[in-house]
Amino acid sequence: MEIIRSAGEMQSHAEKIRSSGKRIGVVPTMGYFHEGHTSLIRIARERCDVVVTTIFVNPAQFGTGEDFEQYPRDFERDKALAEEGGTDVIFAPDAEEMYPPGFGTFVVPEDGASILEGQVRPSHFRGVVTVVVKLFHLTKPHIAVFGQKDAQQVFVVRRMIRDLNFDIDLVVAPTIREQDGLAKSSRNLYLTAAERAEAPLLYQALKEAESLAALGERKAEKIRAAVSEVLQRAKLATADYVAVVDPETFREVGELHPPLALVAVAVRFGSARLIDNILISVSSKG
Ligand code: AMP
Repeated sequence: MEIIRSAGEMQSHAEKIRSSGKRIGVVPTMGYFHEGHTSLIRIARERCDVVVTTIFVNPAQFGTGEDFEQYPRDFERDKALAEEGGTDVIFAPDAEEMYPPGFGTFVVPEDGASILEGQVRPSHFRGVVTVVVKLFHLTKPHIAVFGQKDAQQVFVVRRMIRDLNFDIDLVVAPTIREQDGLAKSSRNLYLTAAERAEAPLLYQALKEAESLAALGERKAEKIRAAVSEVLQRAKLATADYVAVVDPETFREVGELHPPLALVAVAVRFGSARLIDNILISVSSKG
């Protein structure tokens, strides 16, 4: 496995791989790997000849007062897990390499990027999309693997790929969870033992939404209320939002429509902010 830190080196290496006829899969990450990340690497491994895993805690997607400094980092551990998952190249630039002095061009997503995560974190998706565009240019992938865990990110990246005519297939990987349902996240590390004990309520709340929809409930308001009720059992948490959206547009809906609705939640436990979501099949019969 190779480790590349320079943008120029990454780009010329990717060009060589491409011109030898091999397919490149990229897995963009911020590191501090858990099984969610390694599942993405394995998916890329199955579909491509060369897997490039990028590790970059992107300052541009963190707002003032957010956890950029505290974000956990452990390159040696990541290196071992990336290799075990089948990574061929780790691209791990530093912030100067990605945003050298004089950097002044951002890619700004519009509609759908200013609600939910975008509302709570106003410059977040501008940072995400800008870094993803840069990573695509540097790693020249045929496919890119992202996790459904960050559903709004998937929406924003998918639309950017289409809008800006990137010739890249987006593969969306399912959310990997702890046994008690809590979605794996590098940020779970911030939870105290008491908060960790309450954290599975996020997934329980989402499963409640799924059960209601399966019973025929179509009113988003009812679903939101039921989800909030479960979340209120987490005494140490405050909810940032509970939303029912159309996954195609990321607009909030009043009623659930076939084929799919997405219920997304964000919750704060002290300094930890956790997000999760569930895709719900909506049958036309109700
Ligand atoms: P991050 O390092 O948190 O930016 O995540 C890198 C990629 O891993 C993103 O595409 C995430 O959506 C994905 N990811 C994070 N957590 C999980 C999880 N629990 N299951 C599957 N994918 C995940």
